[in-house]
Amino acid sequence: MTETLDTVLIVEDEMPMRRFLRSALTTHGFRVVEAGTLREAEQLATESPPAAILLDLGLPDGDGLDLLRRLREWSAAPVIVLSARDREDDKVIALDAGADDYLTKPFGTSELLARIRVAMRHARGGGGPTEPVLTIGPIRIDQARHEVTVGGKVIHLTPIEFRLLGFLARHAGKVLTHRQLLQEVWGPRNTHQTHYLRVHMLALRRKIELDAARPQWLTTEPGVGYRLRDER
Ligand code: CA
Repeated sequence: MTETLDTVLIVEDEMPMRRFLRSALTTHGFRVVEAGTLREAEQLATESPPAAILLDLGLPDGDGLDLLRRLREWSAAPVIVLSARDREDDKVIALDAGADDYLTKPFGTSELLARIRVAMRHARGGGGPTEPVLTIGPIRIDQARHEVTVGGKVIHLTPIEFRLLGFLARHAGKVLTHRQLLQEVWGPRNTHQTHYLRVHMLALRRKIELDAARPQWLTTEPGVGYRLRDER
């Protein structure tokens, strides 16, 4: 049990899912407020801004993405989208629209709590871009000196690999979409060149992973993007 009393806003119209979320969160020390429609959700989010929002996309009075876009005009609260399986497009659109993460139904309590903790830590600025040295498990990235070590051994990265790894590490635990990665590293005119990513991610894995075919740190989110595991 944690001692935190952060409020999580649950936006979900399916009662069994809502009960599961409510029970998982209240058991682990969160305060919970609930909405079953976009209208209720927007009202609750405005009245008392929550520390995090769990957002179902299919709601009776509209699309959760509309709420996400409106929220992002004034709120930086982490938003985790609750998505049905086989809806990769929804996940990508949600992440590009400012969602912090997504959970694919069905998911377990520990996965839910882990994602909420990561999203909240990012929102509070922990492990932010201003830190000169980022450490993720055995991977140590000295941003000022452009030096990367894995398990204490210096590895040599190309400038593109270094920028990819740095961007992933500054957002460790969060899925970054193909578009977000391409835009950051290659610029806004190259956001469709997903083959660039495949090539450079493979090269990066060969350098930072024990076994590039079974990555432990740099994982693929099929159809969506990549995630660097968060472990500090
Ligand atoms: Ca729904």
